[in-house]
Amino acid sequence: MNGFEIKATTDVYCIIGHPISHSLSPIIHNTAFKQYGIDAVYVAFDVKPEVLGTAVNGIKTLGIKGMTVTIPHKERIIPYLDSMDKIAQEIEAVNTVKNEGNKLIGYNTDVWGFLEPLKPYLTRLKEGSAILVGAGGAGRAIAYSLRELKINKLFIANRTVDRGIQLVKYASKLGLEANFIGFDEHTLNEKAKSADLIINATPLGMHGVGGSIPINYEHINKNAIVYDIIPNPLETPLLKEARKAGAITISGVNMLVYQAVLAFKIWTGIYPDPKLLLDMVIKNLS
Ligand code: NAP
Repeated sequence: MNGFEIKATTDVYCIIGHPISHSLSPIIHNTAFKQYGIDAVYVAFDVKPEVLGTAVNGIKTLGIKGMTVTIPHKERIIPYLDSMDKIAQEIEAVNTVKNEGNKLIGYNTDVWGFLEPLKPYLTRLKEGSAILVGAGGAGRAIAYSLRELKINKLFIANRTVDRGIQLVKYASKLGLEANFIGFDEHTLNEKAKSADLIINATPLGMHGVGGSIPINYEHINKNAIVYDIIPNPLETPLLKEARKAGAITISGVNMLVYQAVLAFKIWTGIYPDPKLLLDMVIKNLS
């Protein structure tokens, strides 16, 4: 099987989301199937929210072996699943599904995907402070991850105040010392000065979206780690500011690859080489 010889026995995996045409997940998983000689193919389906139930039933009917779930279905898919792992239950969001004997099991690999690139900095971040900008599904998975990192103080900023406060409540329930802060240049720059970790979990700065979260390099501590979970472009406007400040930068392409690595392991039992997949994605982005 070289990734192109699709036969009657070839297993099918997929991603569902809306929109989906810019997804990098097919590149990642098809590269891994090819590398490990697995007779399988991974395709993308554009599924609108109003037909999610029909699409998920189709997964079972057609015997699709596994799927990645992305915006806007990560929370909405839950009622259609047969069971979920502990992390997915606690976050109430699913990004990976395995079809096991026609039972759909939901997982959340975003947490591990977010944490793996931070592994070299665990000691530095323990009991530190973090700013999280964005309070959507990814923001929720990140708040959960920050508890695992033993972050001491978390400041959450979000355009829509109510949603930001909901995430503060969730983070507090997890045991984090969390506070809501304004989504404005003055507040964010002020907090950035002493933050050990700054995270963008909004689409601001993404290819095709543009803009940036309003944090300027003059206010970023050179010892800080700045993590933009947007995978494309590799260097977002926020990461550019961080580089100018001399801070450590982490591109969202790392999270994208690591969440896929764990999904692949759940589906096939094989832990694929993250470096191989990262190189392939970066090659496609550039
Ligand atoms: P989501 O649930 O739709 O939440 C989007 C978040 O971004 C909300 O906090 C929203 O604020 C904010 N936002 C959206 N447009 C904005 C704008 N124009 N100005 C200011 N804030 C804005 O999406 P999500 O699942 O959390 O994903 C967020 C981003 O993370 C996406 O860009 C996605 O591509 C990226 N992501 C990357 C990975 C990875 O593996 N690298 C994984 C997951 C997500 P409001 O509450 O005000 O709407």
